[in-house]
Amino acid sequence: MSIYFDYQSSKPVDPRVIEAMIPYYRKEFGNPSSLHMEGDEASRIVEECRENIASFIKAEPDEIVFTSGATESNNLALIGFALRNRAKGNHIIISEIEHISIHNIAKYLTKNGFEVSKVPVDQYGRVDIRKLLGRITERTILVSVGYANNEIGTIQPVLQIGELCRKKKIAFHSDAVAAQGLLPLDVGRDRIDLLTLSSNDIYGPKGLGVLYVRKGIRLNPLIIGGGQERGLRSGSENIPGIVGMKRAVEIMEKEMEKEVERLGKYRDRLIGTIPKIILRCHLNGHPKQRLANNAHFRFEGIEGESLLLSLKDKGISVSTGSACSSMTLEPSHTLISLGLLHEEAHGSLEFTLGRFNKEEDVDRLLEVLPGVVERLRELSPLY
Ligand code: PMP
Repeated sequence: MSIYFDYQSSKPVDPRVIEAMIPYYRKEFGNPSSLHMEGDEASRIVEECRENIASFIKAEPDEIVFTSGATESNNLALIGFALRNRAKGNHIIISEIEHISIHNIAKYLTKNGFEVSKVPVDQYGRVDIRKLLGRITERTILVSVGYANNEIGTIQPVLQIGELCRKKKIAFHSDAVAAQGLLPLDVGRDRIDLLTLSSNDIYGPKGLGVLYVRKGIRLNPLIIGGGQERGLRSGSENIPGIVGMKRAVEIMEKEMEKEVERLGKYRDRLIGTIPKIILRCHLNGHPKQRLANNAHFRFEGIEGESLLLSLKDKGISVSTGSACSSMTLEPSHTLISLGLLHEEAHGSLEFTLGRFNKEEDVDRLLEVLPGVVERLRELSPLY
């Protein structure tokens, strides 16, 4: 096993979650739509899980829609809302540093008669409220800004965005995938109307997501069928997945405070030490308003990809950015939006910490990294 610092791309499922899921593969196989005993049990457990997951974000159970993951939740939030509310307006605002799924949904909407504006961020990745206000028009129906950024870990001024949207009678969607389990979420406090969650990002199984839909917000379903999830998302429920996410939420509720404190210490060690022991290395993202698990650096004169591969040789797994867009050779759109040049963005590396990291992992990284950077710089024509 390598030393893993890429928790943002994928997380191991907590063994306690797997334990909780097993009976729902082995014995409890009913379908909630069936009227027999097996169906009753399936229906009972889904509703119990819905309650637990709702309380995790301070919502009501009937505001929770189970989906296949964050990508689907984002699709349902943006496309479902846009199609249903077209009569009120056709303008949507997203931030420049949204996850690739939001950018591509925005592209799709643009091809289908909607207008999308992208609000820029400052050098640390924070949305400027005045610039957001400046982009709102009479036709604006929806604003979508991620709770915290999945690459650089910058936390957005969510409450301010929520209050502005509420005042302007515009719906507010937030993709909270990067923030969940690291920040306490409260849809009431933050004036959020639509919120995306993913099970794997809190150490639950993959293939299960949630869209929170505030009461009174109307959406068109994108998946039509038997009418499950109050008609918003048809298809037989993924019960083992739902049970797994519920267990992941329970564990998170108990352990989040301690976990965040521990990861925050590791992060602060990385942020405090790396730029000191490696010359010409700079922190990307906000120095304070950042997720407890995120350290992201730019190393002058080398390619992030070469650094990633050299660390891989040493048994350390890191990332150059969002795994979802690693197939392209383009630099990260998030880093470019911060104002970084292409070569600066290409020279960046992301470390994301998680539940199973130990202090020794951080020791090992700090021991190995300077030598690796030095060797690559010796070989680099850029340096
Ligand atoms: N939003 C964010 C912020 C993400 O980081 C990801 C990827 N983990 C997604 C959406 C998409 O999630 P999935 O691939 O599980 O649908």
